[in-house]
Amino acid sequence: MDFTPHVFPLQLSRFRRLFHRHAESGFSEFWTTAFLARSLSEAGCAVKVGEEAICREARMGVPDEAVQAARLAAAREQGADPAWLERMDGLTGLVADIRPDLPLLTVLRFDIDAVDVEESASREHLPAREGFRSLNSGVCHACGHDGHAAIGLGVALELLRIKDSLRHNVRLIFEPAEEGLRGAAAMVEAGAVDGAKYFFAAHIGVNARRTGELVCGTEGFLASTKFDAEFFGRAAHAGAEPHEGRNSLLAAAGAVLNLHAIPRHGKGDTRIAVGRMEGGSGRNVIPAYAKLVCETRGSSTEVNDWMFEQAKRVIEHSAAMYGQDCRITLMGGGGTAVSDRAMCDIVRQSAEGIAYFKPELMKDMGQGFGADDACAFLEAVQKQGGMGAYAQLGSLLPAGHHSPDFDFDESLLGPSVELFCRVALALDARG
Ligand SMILES: [Zn+2]
Ligand SMILES: [Zn+2]
Repeated sequence: MDFTPHVFPLQLSRFRRLFHRHAESGFSEFWTTAFLARSLSEAGCAVKVGEEAICREARMGVPDEAVQAARLAAAREQGADPAWLERMDGLTGLVADIRPDLPLLTVLRFDIDAVDVEESASREHLPAREGFRSLNSGVCHACGHDGHAAIGLGVALELLRIKDSLRHNVRLIFEPAEEGLRGAAAMVEAGAVDGAKYFFAAHIGVNARRTGELVCGTEGFLASTKFDAEFFGRAAHAGAEPHEGRNSLLAAAGAVLNLHAIPRHGKGDTRIAVGRMEGGSGRNVIPAYAKLVCETRGSSTEVNDWMFEQAKRVIEHSAAMYGQDCRITLMGGGGTAVSDRAMCDIVRQSAEGIAYFKPELMKDMGQGFGADDACAFLEAVQKQGGMGAYAQLGSLLPAGHHSPDFDFDESLLGPSVELFCRVALALDARG
């Protein structure tokens, strides 16, 4: 079916700037979720929030209670809808169905969290110059997820307008805590993609950094596991009775060295990183506590799982060597998934009708960088026999992702909404 977009580019830019101004960290997207829930439900979507959208216990790396309470209070102060906050019950993220009366066919994912970085206040930085710089200090939409949320809202409004012509349900997932790979597994656990045959997600920029560029599918994401390792020893006088102590710092230091001695894997690339080590108390006290903040990565889920198993073994045995108790806590992570070629074709065909995307700047498959939590949804859909793709939406970027000056070209919002709608319609026709 032919499709003409109706949502004005100006309206999309307004949405984007609202989200940008209310940048919120992973699992604290209270204002953002309440705004989306209210807008989507008033427009006619069936909206699920709270435990219907995300499994509370399956969330990894949730900020502690005091931090969450302060962020919730800030969202309230900034005018978040109290009725929706109540229904959310401390949980962020939401699921919106266009036709809940029909069987689910296609899931579209939009991530909504910001990055923990202080936004630039420079006049060179458009959000600062035009007055929509982040209201929340230390948190900034430096990855473009404000654009993703605006695109998602635009897609919902367009699809609702033509919903009577749909033969299947289209579901929009607004994912919290994509950064650190923390949100998707908990939404999969709550059944967000159960029964879906197709999955589509996209990211602004990544390796598509020219206006009009489009990478239809992505490969080369690394699977990753984020975890903390804690060592619990025993304090003692370092001069008088060092033999009574159990030194946690030595156990942690031994673990750091041996984590980096895990052999390479013959079946794919691997990474190991200990990003932070802390521990001890005073100069003359045997350290009774230490903590390592770590991650493993692998070019396949299998290889990454193997790395994590080796890491656990190193940590547990290092702890035993120095008489420690140890605790390993999962803080995030996910597998990897490669976009399906057949789905990339559908994305390309859908983009060919959109003037913004230049045929000479279109590519079927490109490399990702780092990881994206979309892989968890894509992998789940592929496991139940479906297929999907993760596209990269081209934009000039004045600065790289996660930097304080990150920004993107808002002219891609309208064409991106159109792309998502055309993909959803092509899939609906295909069944
Ligand atoms: Zn990011
Ligand atoms: Zn991102």
